[in-house]
Amino acid sequence: MDNDVKAVPKDEITLFGIPASPGVAHGQVFRFLHEEVEVLNYEVKEEDHPKEIARFKEALNITYEQIQEIREGVAKNLGEKEAGIFDAHLMVLEDKALIDDVEKEIRTTGDNVEQCLHRVTQRYYDYFNQLEDVYLRERASDLKDISRRLIRNLIGATAAGTAFLSDPRVLVSEDLTPSDTASLDRSKIIALATETGGQTSHAVIMARASSVPAVVGVRSLIEGLKEGDTLLVDGFEGLVIINPSETTLFRYGKVGIRRKRLNDLVEEDADEPALTKDGHPVQLFANADSPEEVISGINSSCEGVGLFRTEALFLRKNEMPSEDVQFSNYRELVETANPLSVTIRTLDLGGDKVLNLSGREKENNPFMGFRAIRYCLQNPEIFIRQLRAILRASAYGKIKLLFPMVSGVGEVIRAKVLLNRAKDELTEQKVKFDETIEIGCMIETPSAVTICDLLAKEVDFFSVGTNDLVQYLLAVDRVNNQIAYLYEPHHPAVIRSLQHVSKVAQNSGRPITVCGEIAGDPHFLPLLLGLGLNHLSCAPPLLKELKFFARRFTQSECEALVDEVLSMARPIQIKERLKDFYDYRVANLLA
Ligand code: PEP
Ligand code: MG
Repeated sequence: MDNDVKAVPKDEITLFGIPASPGVAHGQVFRFLHEEVEVLNYEVKEEDHPKEIARFKEALNITYEQIQEIREGVAKNLGEKEAGIFDAHLMVLEDKALIDDVEKEIRTTGDNVEQCLHRVTQRYYDYFNQLEDVYLRERASDLKDISRRLIRNLIGATAAGTAFLSDPRVLVSEDLTPSDTASLDRSKIIALATETGGQTSHAVIMARASSVPAVVGVRSLIEGLKEGDTLLVDGFEGLVIINPSETTLFRYGKVGIRRKRLNDLVEEDADEPALTKDGHPVQLFANADSPEEVISGINSSCEGVGLFRTEALFLRKNEMPSEDVQFSNYRELVETANPLSVTIRTLDLGGDKVLNLSGREKENNPFMGFRAIRYCLQNPEIFIRQLRAILRASAYGKIKLLFPMVSGVGEVIRAKVLLNRAKDELTEQKVKFDETIEIGCMIETPSAVTICDLLAKEVDFFSVGTNDLVQYLLAVDRVNNQIAYLYEPHHPAVIRSLQHVSKVAQNSGRPITVCGEIAGDPHFLPLLLGLGLNHLSCAPPLLKELKFFARRFTQSECEALVDEVLSMARPIQIKERLKDFYDYRVANLLA
């Protein structure tokens, strides 16, 4: 009998998740386990309660210092924006209600501080975690993270880490907290894959900022992994492959080489003008929610900021910023962009972006509900505060004002009444602002598409938000995983809507920009150009490649492509046609 152990090829398994940070990497798996500390339970005599409370206070201080240290490291290596994530942790450590609750738990139950802390934070966690609001659920994981760290500090345990790893690995975890991510040694992590989490989770934001490929929301990932398995993470397509075969690795290897060659070609073209092959101008703008992203857009030669999402300023701190705080942020923004223009979108709260404000009712259909301009018109004091801040900043650079989620002319008229009120107040107070500030509306609801000729009479420009337009047009919730397959930007209804809006904008002399995610997708580019939509606004890292491809198409071939696509009935046919059109050019370029 042959006793030799033969290397049997392991079965390749592909699992799908959500693409969270672009790139592809393959390597040995490192199962990251949060070191769950055992929470001891013992009684503390009444006279020792003050000592127990003092232990708690000391642990709070030590933990505060540790987090501050992590924050400083992140600020130095990744930037202030990413470091800001830890402000929420520091706030938990200073939260009077939480601290009082723990002390009360010690006094009333007579249990040790670890146990009391565990019980109190678990109560808070359970409450936050059952909320539908994605942002607040993420705050629940901040709380869990902090509580683990506090308990470790109370009992003197150390955190699980990556320091002992000898080679770089693919990190796999059920979930990943911001402080987990910050305490990882980046040189040891080549990719991330998690079972939970969305594209807006903090760990993902940091992975993106560090260019680590990541896929999140991969169900049953951990149960499918065994000791010694390798994992390929494809952050472009949102899939992971357990034990990829030689053929798969070869295919991905070729993809990587081609990608690198394409990137080199894109860089070579970086200083060329944004024109189609036959000289038609294409205007490329940046989507941003921070001055850092504006700088990144400028470094990629954007012609301005096509969409500045203001809600990030509100959500980061989970509060309504004052007029002065908003003003200084918007001022910094326009001064950074100067002399380029910045299109500032007024508050688009609601849907999946909700602040924890008292008096806000839970909604069954948040995306169809109290969102964006609807929220602002019903809260004129919040709206006017923002309008005043934007107007004040308009004295320092070129600002355009954009109203989100408009579904009828009345909303624009009422928004303009409030804008005029803000202008009158500032004039009376002798505060300078741009009196001729242009105003525009987002075209992202089916009704706005249908009545865009009427809207054109009320605004100076349009901005098409295809992320929402697709969800509202096709009645497919954009954050619901179960029906994600129905979220089809290639649907003929979307393309016909774009065609209609483009024609109306042209006939009424209103500039129109597309700022949804399809604007940054090179597959969509020839279609958009063919539809006459040549003002595109997208995430800064996509700008150079977009220009590169625009320079490879002629306007007439883009228009011919539109004719072809308009005769197609099924989204998949359209998707494949756009892919072929793109692949053909890439193949020729790389031949
Ligand atoms: C859109 O809906 O396409 C858009 C740009 O706005 P947001 O993604 O912020 O809703
Ligand atoms: Mg939108």
